[in-house]
Amino acid sequence: MTVADLPERARDRASAELPLRTELRGLEPYGAPQLDVPVLLNVNENPYPPSHAVVADIAAAVAQAARGLNRYPDRDFLALRRDLATYLERESGVALDPTRIWAANGSNEVMLHLLQAFGGPGRTALSFAPTYSMYPEYARDTSTTWVVGRREEDFTVDPVVAAAAIERHQPSVVLLASPNNPTGTALPLATIEAVLEAARGVVGGCVVVVDEAYGEFRRRGTPSALEVLDRHPALAVSRTMSKAFGLAGARLGYLAAAPALVDALRVVRLPYHLSAVTQAVARAALAHSTELMALVGALRAERDTTVAWLRARGLRVADTDANFVLFGTFDDRHAIWQGLLDRGVLIRETGPDGWLRVSIGTPEEMVAFKDALVEVAGL
Ligand SMILES: *Cc1c(COP(=O)(O)O)cnc(C)c1O
Repeated sequence: MTVADLPERARDRASAELPLRTELRGLEPYGAPQLDVPVLLNVNENPYPPSHAVVADIAAAVAQAARGLNRYPDRDFLALRRDLATYLERESGVALDPTRIWAANGSNEVMLHLLQAFGGPGRTALSFAPTYSMYPEYARDTSTTWVVGRREEDFTVDPVVAAAAIERHQPSVVLLASPNNPTGTALPLATIEAVLEAARGVVGGCVVVVDEAYGEFRRRGTPSALEVLDRHPALAVSRTMSKAFGLAGARLGYLAAAPALVDALRVVRLPYHLSAVTQAVARAALAHSTELMALVGALRAERDTTVAWLRARGLRVADTDANFVLFGTFDDRHAIWQGLLDRGVLIRETGPDGWLRVSIGTPEEMVAFKDALVEVAGL
């Protein structure tokens, strides 16, 4: 019997005897509810499963990898890094040497590597709220002090406010999600460069991480921070295969940065952290990136239609470059969320008071969402 199987009171007694770090006492594991309902629009997944052709290639690649599973995988996963560099060049037009790519089990792990290398006791990580709720957890888990600056009413980051926050807090890491979760807000390059400029003034140095988990969904004309990577040795741009790529279950996130920054992450990673199976799955999927990107176009169009529909019904909607929409505001957002759930539609109760976030699904799923919302909110 494990501690998890014990009745709750016995479990409390057992955990009282464990030397749990003080800051972790009484905390629950974080995560969105995983409920079994027909329409899942709560964690920004791609609603389209891999096609038969992609599934067949992934299965063949896994079979090939399985033949060598008695051996540890390639610790530096050079073939995968080369494929990721090729993909980024095709997607954003920026050519990158594979030594400038790093990857891990989801960009969550990439971000943890960044804080393990550049955060730590006595150091500070800074972001601008509302933003991704996992950031403070990476800070906590690496004993890094966590500080948030504020976003404007429209969820943009004012470069002057950002520079002042950096000067005041002297962080060693700044985390900027662009497009931001849960608001969908993309940052102009001018804002990112203003943050980088302020970061150059931090005593001891400061790494600026632009989290582009939703980068592929950005609207035409919205740039990627990859475009300014060459000019900034302390910039890291992170991406993931979990969202646009439709591979959340495979767990593969990555970043592009200067080789020296990547070398620092190689020091803190666990040996063989990317399994041979993960590497094989990611490479097989990357070989189909053109096909997968076609679906991204459809999701972007559906996103823009959803924004227009919500606005036409008098709701406030944050401008979004992502595959989700933050909308509101409701006096009792929980009641709206619950009403949708009662109708089989799971969205996310997140963001500032009164707002809700819906991920973009298939056209059929979005019809179900709109029908349910009309009923529940009386639109
Ligand atoms: C979903 C998301 C990620 C991706 O996490 P993975 O670990 O790669 O699945 C990263 N950053 C933000 C802001 C996200 O919303």
